[in-house]
Amino acid sequence: MDQTTSPDVRAEISRIVGNITHELKTPLHSILAIAQLLRSEVDGVLNSEQRRQVEMILKNGDSLLELITHLLQYSDLESGTRRAQYEEFKPKEFLEELRLTVEPIAQKGGITIEANFGQLAGMFVSDRRLLRQAISNLISNALKFSPRGGHLALYAATLHDGSLLVEVADSGIGIPQEAQEMIFSEFYQVERTDARRYGGVGLGLTLVKTALELLGGKIELRSEVGQASLFRVTIPNAPERLKRRRILVVDADSAICLALESSFRKEGFEVECGGDADRIESRVAEFRPELIILDIRGFDASGVRALQHTTASSWGRDIPVMVMSSVDGAKERSRAFELGAADYMVKPFDLAELLARVRLQLERVTLKSVA
Ligand code: ADP
Repeated sequence: MDQTTSPDVRAEISRIVGNITHELKTPLHSILAIAQLLRSEVDGVLNSEQRRQVEMILKNGDSLLELITHLLQYSDLESGTRRAQYEEFKPKEFLEELRLTVEPIAQKGGITIEANFGQLAGMFVSDRRLLRQAISNLISNALKFSPRGGHLALYAATLHDGSLLVEVADSGIGIPQEAQEMIFSEFYQVERTDARRYGGVGLGLTLVKTALELLGGKIELRSEVGQASLFRVTIPNAPERLKRRRILVVDADSAICLALESSFRKEGFEVECGGDADRIESRVAEFRPELIILDIRGFDASGVRALQHTTASSWGRDIPVMVMSSVDGAKERSRAFELGAADYMVKPFDLAELLARVRLQLERVTLKSVA
């Protein structure tokens, strides 16, 4: 989009493009699902011509899906409202996962992937979704522009200053020197003398560049026509962006408070624990938690009141409330859910399970804020 267009107009155009592409995605998913069903031959064996036709539907459907996905990502990033959502993760696991998802596509295209992630250390803080978007676009280009029998090398390392270095190298058709800057512009594609169509609309690298800008990262390219291309990405580690997530525990039992405070803090959360359910509103106002764990003991009046007061209020309805109770009854559970509880734990609880459930609730909060 033209950078001189006003931010409001850009946001509106992005919103419209986003809506249209979203609407396209739904029927396309059905078409692909049905074509896959046909290919699986559960409803009858296909002859070789029919199989070829179904493969063509799937191949073209996949290209269309890639295009729609790019347009959706483009409208999201170009709206100018997208902010990076930082979280802590293990870069090694992140890249291994990514590699697993692209492996079948590489196999189909007769391309071998060699990955070297041995130099990756510990944890990393960044926006996982944006990073995934950037790296997977580079990988899919590397696969797209490599011939059968080609080779894709993935290398990643943690640098001295904690940054993450990722290299995607292919043995493909290469990019001429004079086009190496232009390929990051929107809708730009290198003109080819060969008759082969590679598909795409020239948005992949624009998305990579915009995502990396949001993450404070950079990208370099080295390529030789007919030989190889190497994209090198460096992304800074941003632990200072990691907001410690706050959990308010309302429980009068000081032993429970001690246990929860120490284990939650060890897991990197900020916790405040104490009794007095009647003061829940002022405690939320002071501490601003993202999650509340509320002990309602044996369904005591003050606990139930606090639950109702929170979930029905403007200050509390967006904060998930996990209820803890000494009563393990179906009636009490459904009553708690009716009153707006997000989860129900029975005391005595298992700490590991509580932590897992807390993480699940916080993940939902993150997803909601991204949506
Ligand atoms: P698309 O792949 O959808 O055309 P991109 O923005 O991802 O769009 O790439 C722009 C252009 O850069 C491509 O059309 C292609 O000409 C060139 N290109 C990108 N990656 C590679 C690569 N790994 N090898 C050769 N050419 C590439």
